Amino acid sequence: MQLVVVLGDQLNHNSLAFDGLDPGQDLIFMAEVAAEASYVWSHKARITLFLAAMRHFRDELRARGFRVEYRTLDHPANLGSLEAEVRAAIERHQPTRTVCVEPGEYRLREQFLALGLELLEDRHFLASAADFARHAEGRKQLRMEYFYREMRKRHGYLMDGGKPAGGDWNYDEENRGSFPKSGPGPLPSPLRFTPDAITREVIALVSQRFASHPGRLDHFDWPVTAAEARAALDDFLTHRLERFGLYQDAMWTAEPWLYHSFISSSLNLKLLDPREVCQAAEDSWRRREAPLAAVEGFIRQILGWREYVRGIYWRYMPGYLDKNELGHTAPLPDFFWTGETEMRCLSEAIGQTLNHGYAHHIQRLMVTGLFTLLLGVDPRRVHEWYLAVYVDAVEWVELPNTLGMSQFADGGIMASKPYAATGKYIQRMSNYCAHCPYDPAESAGPNACPFTTLYWDFLMRHEARLSRVGRMDMQLRNLVRIEPARKAAILTQAQALKDKYA
Ligand SMILES: Cc1cc2nc3c(=O)[nH]c(=O)nc-3n(C[C@H](O)[C@H](O)[C@H](O)COP(=O)(O)OP(=O)(O)OC[C@H]3O[C@@H](n4cnc5c(N)ncnc54)[C@H](O)[C@@H]3O)c2cc1C
Ligand code: SF4
Repeated sequence: MQLVVVLGDQLNHNSLAFDGLDPGQDLIFMAEVAAEASYVWSHKARITLFLAAMRHFRDELRARGFRVEYRTLDHPANLGSLEAEVRAAIERHQPTRTVCVEPGEYRLREQFLALGLELLEDRHFLASAADFARHAEGRKQLRMEYFYREMRKRHGYLMDGGKPAGGDWNYDEENRGSFPKSGPGPLPSPLRFTPDAITREVIALVSQRFASHPGRLDHFDWPVTAAEARAALDDFLTHRLERFGLYQDAMWTAEPWLYHSFISSSLNLKLLDPREVCQAAEDSWRRREAPLAAVEGFIRQILGWREYVRGIYWRYMPGYLDKNELGHTAPLPDFFWTGETEMRCLSEAIGQTLNHGYAHHIQRLMVTGLFTLLLGVDPRRVHEWYLAVYVDAVEWVELPNTLGMSQFADGGIMASKPYAATGKYIQRMSNYCAHCPYDPAESAGPNACPFTTLYWDFLMRHEARLSRVGRMDMQLRNLVRIEPARKAAILTQAQALKDKYA
């Protein structure tokens, strides 16, 4: 008898673990455990999504004729951790072989290897760890763009006879639009999913069991099955993809969704296959329903960034978790858990995160991430926050994005320079500053925008280190132009901010 362990982010009917399984004899084992919901202080919606999707997947497997042993969170004999549950299942069933698709987290991989599990390749992904190692070999510096081009050639997306469709590999320049002063205008309401009885049961369980955890559940409407995930993708392709490219980086007050796809949680739970997503987007372009710049921008995120960050994660773990190139040690400000701050950009980004478990890439990178970078927050604490509060958060994708791209804690493995900017960037890409007591043009004084004050302080603090990062030259030249008296005022004001948020 073969025992197949299926984790909460392995809800893939096409998984290698199910190949050749004998439904009459073999057993699939799934467990809901408190440890996975609590080792970071998880958002209630994140816990709910995982458990609701697992329960739906369990029922689908049973409908396919498989035997599934499923341990619910509230089962009186629940052992509380995956390691203990899997060990007990092995003792109980004495299988000839216990298999699991390789977990997406180093910690679990080590635990499962120690238990003697046979780990199978995750064929959800388009690049294996070995493919990434081949790509990385002999390169002094890794860059997503070169990896992405290889992936385009290998998998044939947006290719015309060996050449990139339209003649260019990348239309990033056309992906940076902001909305006019009048705003985005009427936005298409995204397709959302009313919780069914199974999901409602999970919502009740999570509300009671994890009452003190952050986030709200009254808005919970994420896709929890493959069919819902596909419907969400189709809704994006039909109503939002066309404008996705142009407004990918834009932000607007009280508009959490804009033209994004919101498929990251479905992809990361493996309810959606990235091949299906890329092909469907390419088909939209070939049918002339969406412009090439939008489709290329979207496919680049999935075929490029998503696969690339996974490659980085497995190449640099376990040491990656402890990286702190800039020596940052400040605590995470308390308002990250409440959204209660007078800084409008942060209250918007954190507020929607607590309401929905969602913020789009630029809100994560250039609002919350930028603030913690400039304030000098310990990257480990920043990582724990991002892993806790987003419905799409799983460590292999969250960690390189947070520690590497947004905090520069890996010293330049993920990003060629820190994403450091003043409040003027946020002003250009949103209308947040128009509703804020601060002025992004001011670096000192009562109206100074904390981002702008902390930006100059960040450059002064790290000038020596940053001068070795080639692409920071222009920013450092601007620093030299600031008069000593203003520099002193900025330093004093920055220190007051650090004291306030310590
Ligand atoms: C600090 C920080 C933390 C992040 N943490 C996560 C995380 O835990 N889980 C996660 O899936 N993404 C994470 N991202 C990447 C990105 O922000 C989200 O994938 C995206 O916002 C999800 O929303 P969406 O589905 O509407 O994406 P869209 O904007 O519609 O993009 C389409 C898809 O592309 C993929 N994608 C886009 N950007 C990235 C990226 N940088 N890395 C990997 N995949 C990408 C996602 O699968 C996404 O669904 C993080 C980014 C930052 C800066
Ligand atoms: S002024 Fe500064 S703090 Fe206020 S919204 Fe703009 S960037 Fe954010």
